[in-house]
Amino acid sequence: MPEGPEVETIRRGLELVLVGQSIASYEVFFANSFLCEESLVDRVVLGSKIVHVSRRGKILMVSLSSEYTLLFHLKMTGQIVLVKGDGERFAGGHPTESMAADLPDKSTRAVFRLASDDVIFFNDQRKFGWIKLLPNSDVANESLMSRLGPEVNSPVFSVTYLKSQLERHGGAPVKAVILDQSVVAGIGNIYADESLHLARIHPAKPAGLLKSAEMLRLHASIKEIMALGIEYGGTSFSHYVNSLGGRGDYLAHARVFRRQGQLCVRCGAVIQKIRVAGRGTHICPKCQKLDE
Ligand SMILES: [Zn+2]
Repeated sequence: MPEGPEVETIRRGLELVLVGQSIASYEVFFANSFLCEESLVDRVVLGSKIVHVSRRGKILMVSLSSEYTLLFHLKMTGQIVLVKGDGERFAGGHPTESMAADLPDKSTRAVFRLASDDVIFFNDQRKFGWIKLLPNSDVANESLMSRLGPEVNSPVFSVTYLKSQLERHGGAPVKAVILDQSVVAGIGNIYADESLHLARIHPAKPAGLLKSAEMLRLHASIKEIMALGIEYGGTSFSHYVNSLGGRGDYLAHARVFRRQGQLCVRCGAVIQKIRVAGRGTHICPKCQKLDE
């Protein structure tokens, strides 16, 4: 699933191209991907200008001059491909061959055509992703949005805040707590493993047993790893061009994620893959001990 840094990378690329453009037409290929009254879409989307592109957690928000916002959630397999009038394309989200294919294809769920001839394709093989259209005033109350915890780079995400959340969910493995989108928004499996390795904390350690020094390290590590994820343009599991025209290459710099069998950058021990909170989890058994 695309995590915060992947969605942020898409956001930055789309913002550069889309702001100021107006939407000329749209087409929905799979109704459940964009459940919305056609008459409303016609009234508030067609002819509207895109005023900005923002992000909350893993949700991308395209705000329109009609004071409505299109929300995109890519879920497991969603992707956004922007094909410009001159054929140049940017893609972000779950990488599949559709990123480079002739579009629309069988994974295309909705298309927005801009007056400039640029086209936005929303592709989603497994159909868990969605687009919603809401008045700006209702965006914060959308069911998923309203439950999101603070962004990692928000002042609300302080050491004190993280400490209170770890105590509140004290019996849960620390990895499960930082994956919980209502605790902090945008962290998924990749950045959780990376942050815990940097903080030298075992992912299965009960959150309530973390010492003060560990909480401080975890807070700093989450901030550092999420910033690095964004700096490297997120991750890509195959070759594609992200919305900034580069290839997301965080994984080339990863500390433990998908590096089982390789050596820990800190101590040289062999990285292992285990299971924590139902998720494949990568650890250094020497740096991240359960009983410390
Ligand atoms: Zn190590």
